[in-house]
Amino acid sequence: MLSRRKVLKTLSGVPLVGGLIGTGLLTPQILKANAAPPAARNFFKELGLRTFINAAGTYTSMTGSLMPDEVVSAISYGATEYVDLDQLHDKVGERIAELLECEYATVSSGAFGAMTIGLAGVICGMDTEKVSQLPNTDGLKNEVILQEAHNIGYTHALTNTGAKLVRIKTAKELEKAINKNTAMLWFLNANTEEGEIKWEEFVALGKKHNIPTFIDCAADVPPVENLFKFTKMGFDLVAFSGGKGIRGPQSAGLLLGKRKYIEAARLHTPPRGTTIARGMKVNKEEVLGMMVALEMYLQKDHKQEWELWENQIKLISDSALSVVGVETEIHVPPHANHVPSLRIKWDQNAVKISPPDARKALMDGHPAISTVGNDEMIGITTWMMVPGQERIVAHRVKEVLQNATN
Ligand SMILES: *Cc1c(COP(=O)(O)O)cnc(C)c1O
Repeated sequence: MLSRRKVLKTLSGVPLVGGLIGTGLLTPQILKANAAPPAARNFFKELGLRTFINAAGTYTSMTGSLMPDEVVSAISYGATEYVDLDQLHDKVGERIAELLECEYATVSSGAFGAMTIGLAGVICGMDTEKVSQLPNTDGLKNEVILQEAHNIGYTHALTNTGAKLVRIKTAKELEKAINKNTAMLWFLNANTEEGEIKWEEFVALGKKHNIPTFIDCAADVPPVENLFKFTKMGFDLVAFSGGKGIRGPQSAGLLLGKRKYIEAARLHTPPRGTTIARGMKVNKEEVLGMMVALEMYLQKDHKQEWELWENQIKLISDSALSVVGVETEIHVPPHANHVPSLRIKWDQNAVKISPPDARKALMDGHPAISTVGNDEMIGITTWMMVPGQERIVAHRVKEVLQNATN
């Protein structure tokens, strides 16, 4: 455990990262206070919940990302007045499309919701009878073709519409699978490397057969360029999570692309009720929050942020390496969660604790620290931390590993 005295002692020996925090008077409480003014009520404490430092990443189970103050203000502002929901979505859709230089956009309920309404829009077009028919797809195009290597659990967002998945491996197989029931071709950006068909070829196949293409880019900012890249490349629809790298509301997302599909997708969303996406409502607070989060994300100094993450990861890595028997690896995933990331491994004859037990010790310690990992290693990213917390993580990782050497 980390006593206050010990924190002060430890931190005074740790070099400053990016000159962010100038004094040694650094406690988790102060770091938290820097992130947001303390609420009059401590709801999480009241409910008996422990908060934690997020050294893991943008996980839904860990409530995603933290929103900047400007986003929180937009949400609070939204709660004070009534507006027409459709008109708000219209205006914000236009604004986002302009910012991202694409034809049209809408704020969805996460990337998952974007996939469901996007496909539903493709299947039904502007036909309101078809809209209320879903998830019964009798007489409608109802097949979505995707690569076997792209078939992850989130494809439930597609089958929610009533559509079926058709899995293929090669371009040849894809062309053979196309028939009069083919509604859409779907691509998972995170698994680009694993699939045989890459972006341009996939888009070209869609165009050749006049079938819309959709790319799931949920966790694909950074880099910021991805917000523009895939609509420009020719994907008809592109989905991003709102509450991952963009740091908008965790239940919001973006659907970008062709106006005709996005207008059709909107027919499935509230205020309309006899639709499959009535439960994917995005009300004014989150619409505004998403818009402001995107504006802020676009304005950010991405290079500076990257350097901060690199320094933070190096600090934690160096701290872990000071324990004999420990090895680290700094890496950047090529797609999805494309941020400096750390793997920590050790010789369990020298450091006598398993990675799962070490992760548990970090989570059970004070302050609690969430990480990812498996039986071989602990995985850490710093992009979801409040800057400064990396020093606490560096200290605790070292402490947990050092304690296991005795
Ligand atoms: C996170 C994620 C989703 C779901 O996104 P939400 O915004 O949580 O709805 C879908 N696909 C992939 C690849 C993801 O990483």
